[in-house]
Amino acid sequence: MEALVLEEKGRLSLRDYPIEEALGAHDVRVKLHTVGICGSDVHYYTHGGIGVFQVKAPMILGHEASGVVVETGPAVTTLKVGDRVCMEPGIPDPNSRATRLGLYNIDPAVRFWATPPIHGILRPTVVHPEAFTFRLPDTVSFAAAAMVEPLAVGVHGATKARIRPGDVGLVLGAGPIGLVTALAALGAGCARVIVADVDDTKLAIAAGLGAISTVNVKSRNLVDAVMAETDGWGVDVVFECTGNERAASGVFDPLCPGGCVVFIGGNDKITYDVGKAMVREARVEHVFRYAHVFPRCVAMLASGAIDVAPLITRSFGFDESVEAFEIAASAPEGQVKMQIVMPQ
Ligand SMILES: [Zn+2]
Repeated sequence: MEALVLEEKGRLSLRDYPIEEALGAHDVRVKLHTVGICGSDVHYYTHGGIGVFQVKAPMILGHEASGVVVETGPAVTTLKVGDRVCMEPGIPDPNSRATRLGLYNIDPAVRFWATPPIHGILRPTVVHPEAFTFRLPDTVSFAAAAMVEPLAVGVHGATKARIRPGDVGLVLGAGPIGLVTALAALGAGCARVIVADVDDTKLAIAAGLGAISTVNVKSRNLVDAVMAETDGWGVDVVFECTGNERAASGVFDPLCPGGCVVFIGGNDKITYDVGKAMVREARVEHVFRYAHVFPRCVAMLASGAIDVAPLITRSFGFDESVEAFEIAASAPEGQVKMQIVMPQ
């Protein structure tokens, strides 16, 4: 089948790639419709790896996807041919200790699309377990459904934060994950959210997403801005979505006493001030991808509680995939989420 293949670091090709996938009893075969380009896809392209995951053989990219069920295994009960769906890209070992504890996202054996050596889904079809495939209501578009994967990261982060109604949140970073996290924090009950970044075009998108105020940290001191907005108390929750050491090391400064910091992502070592955490009795959480939140994301998109449409800033045809990745790798200003639409 024709696929977008990362041959090696820095070299992509759109070519025929031989894949035969048998349909298990509990599997569905999905014809892909829309695939989002993720920062991790771009990182594999530009760097050839992320941490321990190194590209050693050609790998198909893509893991943010929606599509249509075209075949069902004999034991499938919740999906039928023709259903519009989105898919959770990580498949854990159902018998692992982590999975049995409900922590399937941190099962060391999880097989995740476009994480070496597992192929992604920038290709016509994929076989996937029914348990990780979710039917879409008619009101959720394929484009929005392909945003469920990144949105799930934000919703998992908001869940870890244990947001209470009326909390004030602060999101560091207005990239795709920062913005879905801001949406998730509002959806979870934050009265308002402050988003901080250095890119005015991204902050303008953030400001259009709801009860969000923005701070450009190039021109304004973040802690001063937060304290001015919170009567000197600080925010209830800080979501660290930059991965930037300088930003991340200061997470406790804008936090209120008893508040919570959620680190979302970040590959590098970050030094933070334990003394500042201690005097606030700060709670610190980390997330790795997500677990149990895809149906919640679909439900919030369907009800209108969350609208991801403003984050989808550009889309390409599958035949333009290589160009799309080159553009994504150049980190163009103002682009949040770029998507690829598969031939139907
Ligand atoms: Zn992603």
